[in-house]
Amino acid sequence: MTKLLFREDPYARRCHAQVVRFESPSAVVLDRTVFFARSGGQQGDRGTLVRQSTKGAAADKKTDKKTGKDELASFAVTDCLYAPDRNILHVLEAPPDDALTEGETLEGNLDWQRRYAMMRLHTALHLLCSLVPHGVSGGNIAPEKARLDFDCSVDANGNPDGNPLDKQALQQELDRLVRDDRPVSERWIDEQELTNNPQLVRTLAVQPPKGEGRVRLVSIEDCDLQPCGGTHVRSTAEVGDILVGKIENKGKHNRRITLRLADSLADSLADSGEIPTTSTTAAT
Ligand SMILES: [Zn+2]
Repeated sequence: MTKLLFREDPYARRCHAQVVRFESPSAVVLDRTVFFARSGGQQGDRGTLVRQSTKGAAADKKTDKKTGKDELASFAVTDCLYAPDRNILHVLEAPPDDALTEGETLEGNLDWQRRYAMMRLHTALHLLCSLVPHGVSGGNIAPEKARLDFDCSVDANGNPDGNPLDKQALQQELDRLVRDDRPVSERWIDEQELTNNPQLVRTLAVQPPKGEGRVRLVSIEDCDLQPCGGTHVRSTAEVGDILVGKIENKGKHNRRITLRLADSLADSLADSGEIPTTSTTAAT
């Protein structure tokens, strides 16, 4: 089974790994990986896999014009997902011209900027979860924005809800939680411990999956505790400036809240020429 290095250290950006097998010519299973695979609404990582030897790589071989030395072939990873057997598939942009071989060592390099944006947004969604007294009915995390859907038919006590969500209040509370710089941590707990501890289960914002044996609990100090297999930043200050978007009605009781990183919004506006590249405040 692929060793999930991102679970142990979400800040690991690269690793050496061996090719275990191919699901298809352009889907590679490695023995270990820093690439997060699509799950829990979070997109799969992108990056590159770099060959560690120039031997036998004739078709993919490139020569550095300055040094005359062979360059190591690099393959773009465009997505990562779980195979039915729960190994992680690294989906390559195109099948390598000169086939990679099983047992070959590669260096995996994450598109770190993209992943880090998702780590910040993912952690921000945990904060949002702690502020909205309703059950989560869906969600999605991409590098540019993240959202959660809430079932607002009843409040946290099961009473019909009469309080509309207030965007401005949510923005202020989120800002406060980020400023508080609360530590984010995780621990594994077995199902028996959860069964023996109904009080703990009641405090969880999302109920744990059954039948998995062990559950990973992610905690934001005095704020949020829930089972989650995603990647998070280590403290809420790292989440940085977050913008709460408009609250949308998606069905009779379903309310969708979208979050964006203020700096990525500023970057994309700068890219489109709407604000000067030196501005850091135009988006707030
Ligand atoms: Zn999470």
